[in-house]
Amino acid sequence: MLGGGLLLAQKKMDPKLTEVWDPIPEMVSPGDVKTPPSDAVVLFDGTSLSQWTNARTGGPAGWQINPDGSMTVKSDGGIQTTEEFGSVQFHIEWKTPKQIKGTGQGRGNSGVTFQRRFEIQILDSYHNPTYSNGQAASLYKQHIPLVNASRPPGKWQHYDIVFMEPKYDTDGEQIKAGTFTVFHNGILVINNVEILGTTEFRGHPKLGLDEISSYMPGESRKKNIYLQDHGNPVSFRNIWLRKLE
Ligand code: MG
Repeated sequence: MLGGGLLLAQKKMDPKLTEVWDPIPEMVSPGDVKTPPSDAVVLFDGTSLSQWTNARTGGPAGWQINPDGSMTVKSDGGIQTTEEFGSVQFHIEWKTPKQIKGTGQGRGNSGVTFQRRFEIQILDSYHNPTYSNGQAASLYKQHIPLVNASRPPGKWQHYDIVFMEPKYDTDGEQIKAGTFTVFHNGILVINNVEILGTTEFRGHPKLGLDEISSYMPGESRKKNIYLQDHGNPVSFRNIWLRKLE
């Protein structure tokens, strides 16, 4: 009886009562495949590396800018954004060398690391066996991509990444885990996973800022975005982000 009564009441309800008119989402021009949306922070548009520095020396980023509007890793170390960023939607296009050299982790390896601690792997994973939690689009050594959406070497690929930063209390203890969502060439491969801690080549992820700063003195709160030089000439283009939160 009661259920029927509620249903009847709902049928009589003015539909306007459940319309929400405020706030009004801001208008954003979405751009097309080749251009960033109107509210993006453009990190690389093919013309200069002014948004980047050499992560090791702090000097100018020395990677090679190519006539086609891309840039290529030059073996003088990784580069990082001059600006620091919290939670972001991040877009990057990348290409591993057409001519295959090396195997496994030695083939077209780079990576994009958020806040200098959390790496989404870039690798030529087209018929190139390696450990699954280290293949392209993995959250390195933490989360395996749901599928392998890799294109062949020499083809442009892209990542669209949602990075929600971890939250810490004033003592540096983590109070809320960060998360990653990753689309690889438009395919959902990392679906809102919790970040377990820092990306580590050896051993387990580290969680609290104190634990992190014990081996990265003074660096644990840095939020730059870093592109890895792994000794392979990987190319990049059209890098932008939108700030979230
Ligand atoms: Mg890497």
